[in-house]
Amino acid sequence: MQSRSAEERRAELVELFHEASGCVRCPLHQGRTTVVFGSGNANAELMFVGEAPGMHEDLQGLPFVGRAGKLLDQLLEEVGLQRSDVFITNVLLCRPPGNRDPQPDEIDTCKPYLHRKIDLIEPKVVCTLGNFSTKLLTRSQRGITGVHGRPQVHELGGRTVRVFPIYHPAAALRSTRTLEELREDFAKLPALLAEPAPVPIGAVAPVAAAVAAAGPEPEPPQMDLFG
Ligand code: URA
Repeated sequence: MQSRSAEERRAELVELFHEASGCVRCPLHQGRTTVVFGSGNANAELMFVGEAPGMHEDLQGLPFVGRAGKLLDQLLEEVGLQRSDVFITNVLLCRPPGNRDPQPDEIDTCKPYLHRKIDLIEPKVVCTLGNFSTKLLTRSQRGITGVHGRPQVHELGGRTVRVFPIYHPAAALRSTRTLEELREDFAKLPALLAEPAPVPIGAVAPVAAAVAAAGPEPEPPQMDLFG
């Protein structure tokens, strides 16, 4: 169940875009040309989270417009999706100098924007591209090689969401094996999107508690009640 209408969601996202466009919360603002807020469908069921803008993204103000972005477009097309169906963003809004790795304090400072976007868009699936977004959104230090291709359920932006870690397309441009694995993981996306929303994490415990409180197990029910 989504809590906002499509219009409300879009309007709030535009407001957040304007707020982020002038962000000076960390020193990266000094070297950027443009804040790369993210782009795509404000009502998307599927959201992609990369690492940080590179040179092309910084110049154009759009995520994934370089070679890695072209590969992302191709992989989307192979599973019957287009950019306009999804929302694409990054852990960082601004390009780190020389495309160096995002620093922990930068990730921490930028994190509220990402959580707000997830909260507003209310995607069914958040696909993390590579190590930085995966570690951030799974709140774990387990790297992408060990976790890719297997969905996890997490509370994000106040909602229960499936997080689906996959390799970063830039890594797939450097290795044929990684590209094959990325393609295999992409092929799982349609089925994942078709699954019902995950059960909120806290909701499982009360059921277990109620069963425990019900005392000793009753006589087995007639099979036709549960068939
Ligand atoms: N790599 C990323 O992680 N994000 C972009 O937007 C482009 C390249």
